Amino acid sequence: MRKILWEQLKRTEFKQYADADAVVIIPVGAMEQHGNHLPVNTDTNCIYTLAKCAADAVDDIPLLVLPPVWAGYSPHHMSMEHPEGTISLGYHTFANLLTDIAAGVHAHGFRRVMFLNGHGGNTAIVASIRLKLLEEKGIPSIYGFTYWELPDMAGAMRDISETDKGFIGHAAEFETSLQLLLQPDLVDMEVAEWDTGVAGNPASASREKGKLMFDATVNSLVGVIRRYHAGEYEDARVWRKTI
Ligand SMILES: [Zn+2]
Repeated sequence: MRKILWEQLKRTEFKQYADADAVVIIPVGAMEQHGNHLPVNTDTNCIYTLAKCAADAVDDIPLLVLPPVWAGYSPHHMSMEHPEGTISLGYHTFANLLTDIAAGVHAHGFRRVMFLNGHGGNTAIVASIRLKLLEEKGIPSIYGFTYWELPDMAGAMRDISETDKGFIGHAAEFETSLQLLLQPDLVDMEVAEWDTGVAGNPASASREKGKLMFDATVNSLVGVIRRYHAGEYEDARVWRKTI
């Protein structure tokens, strides 16, 4: 049976994945207020589901997905008028957590470790972990990025968007559309409005836009996984490669 979830393997199964040069995806999310209309797990739910669907779609490459990092760097949401539900890690706590998880993966023989981020506040830290791991831990081939910055996503998002001009925003057109697709029972469109703690227009969201966004992201992610496994993105001195 092909397995894609790290947590489901037995200890006897890891070596075969490492020997096959498996790509290991570490989804990185947040626990953060997303307006009055979305659950606080929005970023974590989006990124974990995207990672699992991309992994399912790449059935000819060995690949494992770790459980998502559910808290991120969100101090700007803790200081908002309505931070309720937000749990933010400290800057160094967050960086050290990602470092230790990647080092643990690498210790078992994996050399293609990919952070996949779903929260804007994490972006710069996730991107810079590649250099930190190389210089401080001697671990190469770490690649980190944020899903809406994947190849071709800017154009796809401009095409999908009606009100937010392709801008991911926060709890707005895109995230609300994705949640209407992924967790519709947890979305309350009656209170979806451009309010404090929301950046963009959630009222224009739809399940159809969520499906277009989701499919575009998975397609792009599949391409990156294939190229990464084939040896691209390995210039270890480039702290954040343009893709
Ligand atoms: Zn979000």
